[in-house]
Amino acid sequence: DRVAHPLRADRSKLYMADLESALHYSLRVEATRASSLSGAQLAAFKCYVATLVKYFPGRPCVQTYLQTLDVWLRNWTEPELPRTVLKEAMKNNRDASHPSVLPTNVTWVGCQGSERHFRGYPCGLWTIFHLLTVQAAQNGPDKELPLEVLSTMRCYVRHFFGCQECAEHFEAMAAKSMDRVASREEAILWLWSHHNEVNARLAGGDTEDPKFPKLQWPPPDLCPQCHKEERGVHAWEEPAVVTFLKAHFSPANIYMDHAE
Ligand code: FAD
Repeated sequence: DRVAHPLRADRSKLYMADLESALHYSLRVEATRASSLSGAQLAAFKCYVATLVKYFPGRPCVQTYLQTLDVWLRNWTEPELPRTVLKEAMKNNRDASHPSVLPTNVTWVGCQGSERHFRGYPCGLWTIFHLLTVQAAQNGPDKELPLEVLSTMRCYVRHFFGCQECAEHFEAMAAKSMDRVASREEAILWLWSHHNEVNARLAGGDTEDPKFPKLQWPPPDLCPQCHKEERGVHAWEEPAVVTFLKAHFSPANIYMDHAE
């Protein structure tokens, strides 16, 4: 049984199986639904892969996979990229001296829902996005290209995210305030606070897994120091939130349970 019991996963951890499953699904399934990629859609795909190469803290075989795909895409200069050609280029190569492999099985651990139609891929995609904003802040100059990861995500969601309604909501939030983000650290907080906005909107709705109620995250049991009260009203202690997010979305917090 490859599927972890949802209640046994630890909410304070990230699982490589979730990250790789979401990567596999986004690259090989979601982004290749159209018969070919061209124009802004092709640019969005190239941008997504280039950002993953820079900031996704993958296992060596997955890093090699992403690097190989990135080089291949950079060499593709024709205006149109047929899906069949791209799918061929995205196959694994286990024979090479440096294996280039992104597992093709989908196994949810931290993102496992209590029923099949809950959680899974959207949970994995959020996790990748947060991880990328944090890794970009940890590994790049704070004031340079503050929107590098956020705009890559925005393009990905706009062009590929399968839930059309979600993509429209996200684009509306992005259009309202994303361009005011002035540093990589602010980018971490922008994504965190807007994900909480989504959580608040969806709480109690029919897409909510009853075993995983939508919370303002991180809840006090995960991060007591993230919460405070100002004149009797709940408020976030933002510096503590940044510290928490940097530790939560760090390579050291990624566990290999149930990875291939
Ligand atoms: P998710 O919200 O998917 O969160 C995944 C994990 O991230 C959580 O388990 C938690 O560990 C962590 N987390 C939670 N909140 C935060 C936070 N604020 N900051 C950092 N980490 C956090 N569904 C709809 O029905 N309507 C929509 O409009 C919609 N828009 C979406 C837009 C985007 C860009 C994405 C990626 C998904 C969207 N979804 C939408 C799906 C929805 O947000 C959830 O992903 C889905 O319901 C699964 O929820 P979940 O309980 O697994 O937690």
